[in-house]
Amino acid sequence: MRIFVDMDNVLVDFPTGIDRLEPEDKARYEGNYDDAPGIFRLMDPVDGAIKGYEKLCEDHDVFILSTAPWGNPTAWSDKLLWVKKHLGECAEKRLILTHHKYLVRGDVLIDDRRKRGAGAFSGRHLHFGEHGEFKDWDSVLAEIEAIS
Ligand SMILES: [Mg+2]
Repeated sequence: MRIFVDMDNVLVDFPTGIDRLEPEDKARYEGNYDDAPGIFRLMDPVDGAIKGYEKLCEDHDVFILSTAPWGNPTAWSDKLLWVKKHLGECAEKRLILTHHKYLVRGDVLIDDRRKRGAGAFSGRHLHFGEHGEFKDWDSVLAEIEAIS
């Protein structure tokens, strides 16, 4: 199967980036952390995300599908650097950054939101996270296994 994996709050633990901002930036960008310069470089992976991504790569055609904020140019390069640091070979040249996620064609999208075109994705959307049907990476891997 061709599988797309979102970054923020699926692969990347966004709140850990907020915690690591300098106090000055934390105050300045409160409520708008997407635009804090460098924030996307500071984040830890979500629990189980790295092993989960690598497991998907063993049997499937996997891409990372993320949106980078239009108002924060360093987010675009920071997301690339994060992928290189944490995901390595099976993610090489597989990072897609777009505000229009419905444009890609594949079987599954693992995403915590329906925004940025995710809700209009033509394949199956696995809604990840505390508000989704799939709360963690173990449940995602079990579902992928079941539908493969
Ligand atoms: Mg997300």
